[in-house]
Amino acid sequence: LDPEEFRRQAHLVVDFIADYYSNIENYPVCSQVEPGYLTKTMPQSAPLQPAPIETILQDVQKHIIPGITHWQSPRFFGYFQSNGSTGNFLGEMLLTGFNSVGFNWLASPAATELEMLVMEWLLKLLQLPNSFSFSSSGGGVIHGSTCESFVCTLIAAREKRLQSGTKGDALGKLVVYCSDQTHFSLQKACQVVGISPHNVRSIQTKRSMNFQLSPDALLTAIEADVRAGLIPLYVCLTVGTTPTTAVDPLLTLSEVARRFGMWVHVDAAYAGSACICPEFRHFLDGVEGANSFSFNPHKWFLTTLDCCCLWVKDQSDLTKALSNDPELLKNKASETKKVVDYKNWQIALSRRFRAMKLWMVIRSYGVTGLQQVVRKHVKLAKHFEALLSADNRFEVVVPTNFATVCFRVAASDELDSNPLTQSLLESLNGSALVYMTHAVIEGVYVIRVAIGATLTEEKHVLMLWDMVQQHATHLLAKYIS
Ligand code: PLP
Repeated sequence: LDPEEFRRQAHLVVDFIADYYSNIENYPVCSQVEPGYLTKTMPQSAPLQPAPIETILQDVQKHIIPGITHWQSPRFFGYFQSNGSTGNFLGEMLLTGFNSVGFNWLASPAATELEMLVMEWLLKLLQLPNSFSFSSSGGGVIHGSTCESFVCTLIAAREKRLQSGTKGDALGKLVVYCSDQTHFSLQKACQVVGISPHNVRSIQTKRSMNFQLSPDALLTAIEADVRAGLIPLYVCLTVGTTPTTAVDPLLTLSEVARRFGMWVHVDAAYAGSACICPEFRHFLDGVEGANSFSFNPHKWFLTTLDCCCLWVKDQSDLTKALSNDPELLKNKASETKKVVDYKNWQIALSRRFRAMKLWMVIRSYGVTGLQQVVRKHVKLAKHFEALLSADNRFEVVVPTNFATVCFRVAASDELDSNPLTQSLLESLNGSALVYMTHAVIEGVYVIRVAIGATLTEEKHVLMLWDMVQQHATHLLAKYIS
């Protein structure tokens, strides 16, 4: 690596990215390419000779950008956003530049200590109970994804339960509980840790209860399993579910779970970021009853993939289940047991220096800047919700808790809402000017409008509203005639 040549090439890449952001609104939000498009244009074997950066960037412009769905577009309203920021991009550059592999403290003390520091900052910002802090028996770790946090906490819960004297074919008897709104990655995590899909109870929720998991329904399910000789292990509660951003009642649910000695995990992947604002913190009330809590800065915290923050109340639950002590890594610092070796808090050995980008984000925007981002998006979402509510052609299906609005074409005797709402979504997305996704809840097809891209402003939401009205007018005229 020649530093001067690196400087020259990196400047070209920064210019390229800056131009990409200047032009982002000129691209179709969702990529319009056909499957296999790239294999038709790219050489099928690796090039023998090196190419100059200028040529490579031309290829990126010509071949890669057409196949990109522009999640950073201000008119991207799909899934949940994965927003980014200047602070984050620069943090990514630094962490990639250092490319240090902080599997234990010695391998890169700054990587471990910055991660611990940032996790303690966030703990205070989210007003998490002190029991999740390093100053108590807990602590926080940055994983790549919520799915990884599910796997690690499930393994911790499993080992704790199996070590507590449970005999016989205990693994086959362990049961995991969640709601039918819980993110589907929990199912996969259960498969990974050896919990049979037959032993995952996906408890039905109701629209009349805003799709919250009911403590009574949880209790009924647990009691039935206990009567059948099964062992309740773990319940996943969600603050901000993926389909509708529902919030489970944490306090009562964790009280139910505690009666059976279960592990309680709170997944706030999307909505956790909002809880840094005092006015939204109440959504986390009851988190003190949980064994673990996670949220994804890579959704709504100006931080790009991959970044999931996980706290546990008792760090030894994780480290007992995930530690190893190979000769190759033995060192004096680890032997003192006074340092954190994060390899024992995760699946992989090697790990990225993710704290660098999260620290850069917090330093660059400050708490007030990050709160402003959340408040702006929530305000825009509330405005969009109000516009929909005032038009009797539409129905807002659940109250907007955060910045994701779920709506459909209002049902009537003459109109079957589901196909019409689906056609409306297809028609809007077909314009390539905006992009949204859908959910089906209690048989109802809804359009989800997730407002949270960093560049989204009021004008983009108003443009979306104009489009929704125009496309609906057109479709309804066709449907009725
Ligand atoms: N939990 C919730 C509530 C989510 O919305 C998502 C993704 O959207 C996930 C978990 C999965 O997150 P990850 O992709 O980090 O595993």
